[in-house]
Amino acid sequence: MRWGPRLPRAAARPHIPAMDLDFTEAELHRYSRHILLQDVGAIGQARLRAARVLVVGAGGLGAPLALYLAAAGVGTIGVVDHDALELSNLQRQVIHATARIGRNKAESAAETLAGLNPEIRIEVHATRLDAATARDLIPRYDIVCDGTDNFPTRFLLGDACHLLGRPLVSAAVLRFEGQLSTYKSHLGAPHPCHRCLHPEMPPEGLVPSCSEAGVLGAVTGVMGTLQATEVLKEILGLVGSAEGGIGEGMSGRLLLWDALDMRFRTVRLRRDPDCALCGERATIRDLSAHAAPAPLVCRA
Ligand SMILES: [Zn+2]
Repeated sequence: MRWGPRLPRAAARPHIPAMDLDFTEAELHRYSRHILLQDVGAIGQARLRAARVLVVGAGGLGAPLALYLAAAGVGTIGVVDHDALELSNLQRQVIHATARIGRNKAESAAETLAGLNPEIRIEVHATRLDAATARDLIPRYDIVCDGTDNFPTRFLLGDACHLLGRPLVSAAVLRFEGQLSTYKSHLGAPHPCHRCLHPEMPPEGLVPSCSEAGVLGAVTGVMGTLQATEVLKEILGLVGSAEGGIGEGMSGRLLLWDALDMRFRTVRLRRDPDCALCGERATIRDLSAHAAPAPLVCRA
């Protein structure tokens, strides 16, 4: 039996065509705490069900991120990871299980997500993210989330999302610290891109990775959960529009968290008119600079 509030199609947001507002009884039960929220309701829940989100990296950030997106009823979640699960991942990558060591992490994540919410579709991409796969995968999703921990993949994703016109919700962790921002520079000013913040990739070896410097597992849990929150807020508003999501989004802002001090700070990010990616005289027009395969995704 399918039933639920029927609203005129005109009430639906224009860029999610013919949104289906019918929910099964089981869906209404499952999402009842969402539907109670004024900023979500049945229309918001239908918007979540219609959404397609790409999670790059099934690691420390991707684990809570994908779990909360699945639990929230995001209708289609793509998971990209070509790595095999290792024992040292399990200190923070809570979507996996000890018995799955050696298995592909995108497949392992999909198994947990399907058990949590069988109502949604999981698309497994057990592949290395390079320029070709980025060009192929990103246009198939509404929003992209960066859960990787190496600069070549981060720069590839940032450039690809700008050039292919998709919002990017990006988080990073190291030791006891986390950062978060959303990039929607494809919408034009005033939205900055990732290169307005970091014009060039830092030289190899300058910034250590989690596998070199360590990370407190719970820090990845907080940052991945904050990332999920921002993705849901974007979907509940007008995905991909200048109007943005519900509340205040993270485009043009960078959240910095120090877990040892337990202090959150937010700094303003400005669009750089001379930016090589989003500036008026942009020189980065395609992904040719990323032609070489990026190193391993997501060991975060
Ligand atoms: Zn820029």
